[in-house]
Amino acid sequence: MLHGPRRPTIAPDSGTLRDARRRPASTRAPATHNPTNAMAIETSDDFFMDLALQAAAEAGRLGEVPIGAVLVHEGEVVAIAGNRRERDHDPTAHAEVLALRQAGRVLGTWRLTECTLYVTLEPCPMCMGATINGRVGRLVFACRDSKAGAAVSRYDMGTDDRLNHRLVVTEGVREQAASHLLSTFFASLRAGDRQVVVDGVAP
Ligand SMILES: [Zn+2]
Repeated sequence: MLHGPRRPTIAPDSGTLRDARRRPASTRAPATHNPTNAMAIETSDDFFMDLALQAAAEAGRLGEVPIGAVLVHEGEVVAIAGNRRERDHDPTAHAEVLALRQAGRVLGTWRLTECTLYVTLEPCPMCMGATINGRVGRLVFACRDSKAGAAVSRYDMGTDDRLNHRLVVTEGVREQAASHLLSTFFASLRAGDRQVVVDGVAP
């Protein structure tokens, strides 16, 4: 098991589900669902998102679209994954799916209720489906994917009451760093430095 520094448990509580879409874009600061504990949560969110960003950067160095994900269970990191779609020739090898699978193996259960998923880019419909199937309690992502995002941008799967599980969604944590990572990657693609077929992700 991967252990990070012991952090305050970040578990969904009885607070209201936050609908990130209600926030004006001009004031897009990281959202927290529990204002009384906002500082602790935001500090931890930055820490775990930084780990996801490191996984994303590593994936980018290896020719993947730089997206990383971290699964945290009761304040401990149980999975870190970067996108492996190109290397594995696997359309499902998104960072989130890989992290969910890894967390399930580590924890010995597919029920990830007490977990928070950190990901550098808003998840696509497949990854939101996997996150919901894993009963993940909370999702934190850095920047939106206006083309394929299924947490707030294109679909609102995390709070859709037609599905059998809902989760707390926080966006905007380390948004600029994640956005910069992606835009730098796509700029190098356009410059011909990389030979990766990219789709479904907003450059
Ligand atoms: Zn995905």
